[in-house]
This record gives sequence, structure tokens and C-alpha cells, in this order.
Amino acid sequence: MDLGLADRTVLVTGGSSGVGLATVSALLGEGARVAACGRDADRLAKAAAGLGAARDRLLTGVCDVRDADAVHAFASRVGAHFGGLDGLVNNAGQSRMKGLDETTEADWRDELELKFAGVLNPLHATRELLRASDAAAVVNVNAVLAKQPEPRLITTSAARAGILNLSKSLATELAPDGIRVNSVCLGLVDTGQWARRYAASGSALGYEEWQRELAEDRGIALGRLGRAEEVAYAIVGLLSPRASYITGTSVDVCGGIGRGIA
Ligand code: NDP
Repeated sequence: MDLGLADRTVLVTGGSSGVGLATVSALLGEGARVAACGRDADRLAKAAAGLGAARDRLLTGVCDVRDADAVHAFASRVGAHFGGLDGLVNNAGQSRMKGLDETTEADWRDELELKFAGVLNPLHATRELLRASDAAAVVNVNAVLAKQPEPRLITTSAARAGILNLSKSLATELAPDGIRVNSVCLGLVDTGQWARRYAASGSALGYEEWQRELAEDRGIALGRLGRAEEVAYAIVGLLSPRASYITGTSVDVCGGIGRGIA
């Protein structure tokens, strides 16, 4: 099926690694034009080189989603370079693995700032561009933690729940402008985040065996971590103009880790 994304333009935050990079790659594969940002210039440059896309298809920019001015500047570059914008993927971020007693006040502030600024700054910066599109869509990359909190990820779980709630409000607020807003809620996906945790764990197990034990420990029905491309597929589907009647919802991409009825 033609997803109707050819020559559409999408901005992906955190597009230099993991889910974001897989989404950039999938969008380019659909013939879309893509803008991607991240904080580390080298990582972005390597990711872009690996994709091998022409400059008229891929634009990268160094910016931290917490910095509203930097995000606005990048969005302006995107508008000038591509002449418009049809999609926004709010993906940049990471989780904070701490329980209540290890979590400082600064941790709470930092986590809430990252999660909320990570959605609101790019949205404010691109809203006028999106409003001008005839098929605008926003996808917020979230986590099953939003609905199923884990005490060992206490700040991330709480922030994720807030973002899921915010996504619903945004879907209602932006519908009159023709902008759809949806979320994907991830379980455990094998990306840079888990590779870093494996390295920090000092485990004697190989990475694959460590992942298998992790999947069993977390009760993942499919018995394995997800792959970034598997998430990208859901994101691209929600961005597609073919999904024109889907807004205000969330799709779990979690291998069956969710215990509730989604
Ligand atoms: P990765 O660490 O592989 O990639 C994260 C990307 O975000 C990188 O491109 C990183 O680049 C960028 N990034 C991080 N912080 C910022 C920032 N402040 N401003 C701009 N860019 C930033 O992570 P994943 O692909 O695993 O994660 C993608 C999203 O999915 C995140 O929001 C994460 O919390 C969420 N998620 C992931 C899960 C998983 O199991 N992998 C589970 C649930 C949710 P740089 O560091 O150079 O800025």
C-alpha cells in the first residue's frame, strides 16, 4: 500500500539513534523528506552518512529539545529548506532508572522538563508550519510506563503518564487546525539505551542472553525486546495521510508486556 508520504516532510527529534534513526530511515524509504535533530553533532553526522540520503531529502541540526530558542531556530531552518512541514515525531529523550529514595528534587525537575519540553518546544516551534499542511500529524513517542508505572523508574513513569494525558488534550486542541496527535507506547526496545545499560551492568552474559533474561524477568509475552524498526513501522503508519481519521489515541508497541487492555 502506498502510504502517501512521498514528498511529505517530517521532523524527527532524536533522529540520530535507535527509534528516531529507524523512523528517519523508514520515512526516507517512503520517499519523504526528513529533518532530524540531536545534541551530539558527530552522532548526527554519522547517522546521516549511514543513511546516504541526498541533501534535498535529509536535513540535520544540532539542538537540545529542552532549549526552546534552539528548537525554534531549527524549525525555521526546516521550513526554509523544505518549504513546509507535514509531520512531527517527538522522540528525543531517555529514561531515568531510579526509585523514590534515590531520586533528588533536581531529578524530578530534570525529568519533567525533558519530557514536557520535548513535546511542547517542537510543537510550538512547528505549529504554524503544520497548520499550513493539508495532512498534518504529530506522533509522541511514549512508554507503556505511562499506563503501567514501575517504581524503579518513578520519575519517568509519572512524566510519561503526564505526556499521555497531554497528548489527548493536544489532539482535541489541534483538531480544528487539521493536526492529528497520537502516541506510541513502547515496552522494551533494543536501542542505544539498553546497550548502555548492558555495558553498565557488568554482566558476564552475552548481550543476547542478557536480553532474553531481561525479557523473561519483565514478562514480555513475545519473549524478546523489540527492534527499533518495529516501532518505526507504527510511527510511520500514524503519520501517513491514510490514517486521516486517527487522532487522540495511543498504540502499544511492546511485545505484549502490557497487562491492561489497551
Ligand atoms: P536512544 O538513546 O537510542 O536515542 C535517543 C535519541 O534522542 C538520540 O538521537 C539522542 O541523541 C536524542 N536525544 C536525547 N536527548 C535529547 C535532547 N535533550 N534533545 C535532543 N535530542 C536528544 O534511545 P531510544 O531510541 O531507545 O529512545 C527513543 C525514545 O523512546 C525516547 O524518548 C525514550 O525515552 C523512549 N522509550 C524507549 C524505550 C526503549 O526501551 N528503548 C522504552 C520506552 C520509551 P543525542 O544524545 O546526541 O542528543
